[in-house]
Order: sequence, then C-alpha cells, then structure tokens
Amino acid sequence: MVFHGALVASPGMGHAVPILELGKRLLNHHRFDRVTVFLVTDDVSRSKSLIGKLLTEEDPKFVIRFIQLDVSGQDLGGSLLTKLAEMMRKALPQIRSAVMGLEPRPSVFVVDLLGTEALAVAKELEIMKKHVLVTTSAWFLALTVYMASLDKETLYKHLSSRGALIIPGCNPVKFDPVEDPSNYLRELAESQRIGAEVVTADGVFVNTWHSLEPMTIGSFLDPENLGMVMRDVPVYSVGPLVRPAEPGLKHGVLDWLDLQPKESVVYVSFGSGGALTAEQTIELAYGLELSGQRFVWVVRPPAEHDPCASMFDKTNNETEPLDFLPDGFVDRTKYIGLVVRTWAPQEEILAHESTGGFVTHCGWNSVLESIVNGVPMVAWPLYSEQKMNAWMISEELKIASRVNVADGIVKKEEIVEMVKRVMDEEEGKEIRKNVKELKKTAEEALKKTHIPSAYFT
Ligand code: UDP
Repeated sequence: MVFHGALVASPGMGHAVPILELGKRLLNHHRFDRVTVFLVTDDVSRSKSLIGKLLTEEDPKFVIRFIQLDVSGQDLGGSLLTKLAEMMRKALPQIRSAVMGLEPRPSVFVVDLLGTEALAVAKELEIMKKHVLVTTSAWFLALTVYMASLDKETLYKHLSSRGALIIPGCNPVKFDPVEDPSNYLRELAESQRIGAEVVTADGVFVNTWHSLEPMTIGSFLDPENLGMVMRDVPVYSVGPLVRPAEPGLKHGVLDWLDLQPKESVVYVSFGSGGALTAEQTIELAYGLELSGQRFVWVVRPPAEHDPCASMFDKTNNETEPLDFLPDGFVDRTKYIGLVVRTWAPQEEILAHESTGGFVTHCGWNSVLESIVNGVPMVAWPLYSEQKMNAWMISEELKIASRVNVADGIVKKEEIVEMVKRVMDEEEGKEIRKNVKELKKTAEEALKKTHIPSAYFT
C-alpha cells in the first residue's frame, strides 16, 4: 500500500509555510510515500512567487497544487477569521474534487483551523485519518475549543461582563472592547463552529513545543482540564514548523547585512498581510531615524481602516510604498538603514548574524522564526490572535518588549525607546538571554519525532 497524505492550507503564507513544513516532516519522519499539498489562494501567481524554490525542486513524492478561488468583487466582510473561513467554505467543492482525484487514494488528511469544514468532506471520501493543523499557538487552540464547549449565551454574558475568558488550566484571554457588535458576534459564532469541528478530527497537530507552552499543553493532556473538552482527540505538539533559511540565497538585503556588525540591525516587518496607516508609517520612519539604529524595514503601502489590507487588496499591492515615507527619509538614512518594498526573505534575514532584533506584528510564524534564530523582539500586534501572541512573548516568556499604543498610534519617541530597549539596554540583555535559551529548546524539539510512530498505521 502506498502511504499518501493530502494536506490543505487556507489562504496566506502564515498557513502555507507550516503546512508545507508538516508535509516534509511526514515524508522524512513518518515514512509517508507521498504527500500532496493543496494551497487555497485567490492569487496563484503571487503564491507561486512567494513559495519559489519549493516549486522548482520537483519531487514526485512531494507535490504542491494550487486551488484558485475567484473572490474579486465579492464583499467577504468581517474580520480576517470570518473572511478566510468564508473563502475556505467557497473552496469546499474544489477541495472535494481535488482530493477525490488523487491517485493513490490518500489515507491521511490534514487541514488548518480555518478549513475545518473540509473534515466532513474527508469523512465522506472515507479517508482513514483526518486531522487539524493549528498554525498558531496551543493557547489559541485552547481558546477556540473552550469557547465551543460553552453555550452561546453563557459565552456572550461572560465576555461582556468580564472582558476576559478563564480557560481551564491556561492563562486567561483578555478581549478588547467591542467596536462593531455584529462583526464580533459573527466572529464568535464562526470560532465556536470551528472549535466544535476540531473535536470531530482524529487528531490535532499544533505548531508549538513543550518548553514554549508547558501549561497549555499540560492542560490538553489533563482529563480534568482541556482533555475533557477535547473528548479523547489527541493533541500533538509538532513544532517548530519553520522554513529553514536557504543557504547561499542571493538577495540585496543579505549583501547589505553582510557589511553590518554582529547583532547590530533591527529588522522591521508586519508579516505577509500587515499594513499600517499613513500616519503610523510616517511616525515609524521618524522613530527609526531618531533611534540611530541600523535597520531593515519591509515597507508596505498604508491602509487606513484594515490592518490586514494587503492580504486581499491587489491594487494596494501595486502601489509604490516608498511614496508614503517622509521626504528625504531614504536618503538621510541610507548609511544606517535599508527599506525593502513589500516582501523580504525573512528567514534568511533572521538567521543572519548581523540581525539583533525584530519589530514584529507577532504573527505566529514570525514569532517562531525569531525564537528559532535567537532574535529578541519588539511586539507590535495588529490584528487577530496577534495580541495573544504579543502578551505571551512579552509578559510570559519575556523574550520581547511590547509597544504602547496611545490614542491609536505608536509615537516616534516610543519607537525609539522600544528599539533601544531591545538592542542596547539591560532589559534587552535579559530578553536576548531568554530567547537564546528558548532557541535551544526549539532545537531539541526539532530533533524529536513528535507523533508516535504507531499513530498513522
Ligand atoms: N514573510 C516573508 N517575508 C516578508 C513577510 C513575511 O518571508 O516580507 C513570511 C514569514 O517569514 C512567515 C510568513 O511569511 O513565514 C508570515 O506568517 P506570520 O504568521 O508571521 O504572519 P501572517 O502573515 O500570517 O500575519
């Protein structure tokens, strides 16, 4: 029998990267004969260019396919979670026929949290084992499944009276004041649906490891805590699933980094979809200039109302981002800084010895990539579960310093202080030491095979 796994990722690099890495692990550590990865996207050519090298290294055992969705002109509305869940819902017929057409028939199916409706498709196609890959923290999984275990009224009452949810055996999750009640209720309902579907899987894989989230992982293993909510569905920590830096990659940023002193450069990036407002972009530029710190900044065109605008708005991606910087900024900072338009080779930058800090939007992949490379962070969350990640890395793990947002903006003085704190000061030394310790635990976790060998057979 040929052992074949079918893996499906929802739109966005933050989902594609870990599912591709999981695919490689299944081949290399779990004796799969073949893995087919389906990447759902509304822009195949952009996805292809971002995934790059993997596509050119043709390997008959590791096949990558795209499921193209046309959502142009459609108002998907709501938060990022509801938008992506809606896109995955629209993709279900294509997912069904793509998986059905696979030869040999897959016996293992994996989909990320945003596509849990596809578990029913896998069941209908009589695939032996169906799984969810959580591309973010175990804590976020805890929140999702615990919310689903409460009835709607209890959940709403709880959140509106306390603004926080106490999850058994885990840190509580604080919620921001509600600005748009209809979107909020829609997001909660969508999250509850996802949480209820997760426990219909045969197993859940999470992109984390024990030393990173000991308490939450412990709660999943404890039948009196989240173990009860999971109803015997096993939860495996399979992280860190991080794309390794490509040795010898040629890129202007890396040439520039080669010329800088060790750990002297702060890397500034807001993930694959994050965008700042025009006012915030200017404030950040002045903050970096005033700090006098060497920097690499991935600059995006601003977005006024939606911090994840560049994920969907293709016209936004075609705008010249440097036009929004203060006059003369690039010239004035040319000896200490480098601005990169829209996209940079992040793994290679974080792995470079000249990189000494990372101002990040706290997307989970960015957080893990920073830890794996022992780089301390400045946490600047923008949307979705990034605030939970920011809390975890600054308050709990103490591997980041968190920016203070006052009146909706992070002021240039605050940016100067944060950058200096992480790069220069005593607190920065402590943060750097902590992240380097955690890096060692990530290396140990990488050496292990996380899913028991008998599990798939
Ligand atoms: N990324 C990159 N270059 C960029 C921006 C992002 O390579 O200029 C990669 C980054 O290394 C990470 C992924 O895109 O693997 C972003 O995932 P993350 O979870 O950090 O954030 P998201 O984009 O999902 O908000």
